[in-house]
Amino acid sequence: MAKKRILSGMRPTGKLHIGHYVGALENWVSLQNEYENFHLIADYHVLTTSLRNDDIYQNTIEMVIDWLASGLDPVKSPIFRQSQIKEHTELHLIFSMLVTAARLERNPTVKEQVRDLKIDNVTYGHLGYPVLQSADILLYKGEAVPVGEDQVPHVEITREIARKFNNVYGDVFPESKALLTRFARLSGLDGDAKMSKSLNNTILLSDSPEEVQKKLKKAKTDTQKQRRNDPGRPEVCLVFTYQKKFNPEEVTEIEEGCKSGALGCADCKAKCSEKISKFLNPIIEKRNYFENNLDEVKDILADGEKRAKVVAVATMEEVHKVMKFG
Ligand code: SF4
Repeated sequence: MAKKRILSGMRPTGKLHIGHYVGALENWVSLQNEYENFHLIADYHVLTTSLRNDDIYQNTIEMVIDWLASGLDPVKSPIFRQSQIKEHTELHLIFSMLVTAARLERNPTVKEQVRDLKIDNVTYGHLGYPVLQSADILLYKGEAVPVGEDQVPHVEITREIARKFNNVYGDVFPESKALLTRFARLSGLDGDAKMSKSLNNTILLSDSPEEVQKKLKKAKTDTQKQRRNDPGRPEVCLVFTYQKKFNPEEVTEIEEGCKSGALGCADCKAKCSEKISKFLNPIIEKRNYFENNLDEVKDILADGEKRAKVVAVATMEEVHKVMKFG
């Protein structure tokens, strides 16, 4: 039986952090045997947050290196740039006729983005973000999309667009399902719910043990635990959430030590840094390999783009046929 197809994508913003790994990459890697994956570099989508992106190509390469270092297999799953497959823009245009402006204005994800990024002038690009995303998914007939909770409304719009297209022109597209990421996203070092480069609260997948240690020293903990022997509340402590992810075997002991006051925050953070660096070590090793073999990374992109193009062209031929363009 043919494997189901899924589409996963990320905007290229440069080097990735452990939040990207926990919130997306880890899931993508585990799905690549079960599904036929297409891994999209959403470089057009970057324009919604910044019009000038002189580093976009470099950021793309850095992100692909992190993807490969984290275990994505480009032989199993093509890795490709949205901007290099022109069929994305054509399908986006067609889809833009199938969804009302009012529906896009109601989209809670766009409202959140406008608020979080303090966007003053909302462009069509912001409103149309989920329309382009629908084109990204449906161009490859993605039956499922691995996403976090915040992206579920976008997948719903994709389903609505597919349904509308199929009703008007005939059955071409699947109604894609959201495949919820298993782990909640990691909070930033400053305690912000979001780990993000723009908030300067990240641990990068490429950070050395010294950098991890330095960053973690400043991480927010339980504010009531002022001195080493004060009893703490691990349930409100950010470092404890990192311990749960990167040091699960010692988590019970840490919880007890924190609550009783036997464990101080400095020791707890040192232990946590060590575990995060142990986790990052093989990623950094693979990263170094790809950084020293950039031609291999470029070949992987070229191959992925060739394979993605074949599927995209076939879908658009089908679309043209049912729309009677020829
Ligand atoms: S001991 Fe560890 S878990 Fe407890 S408050 Fe300090 S850093 Fe957090």
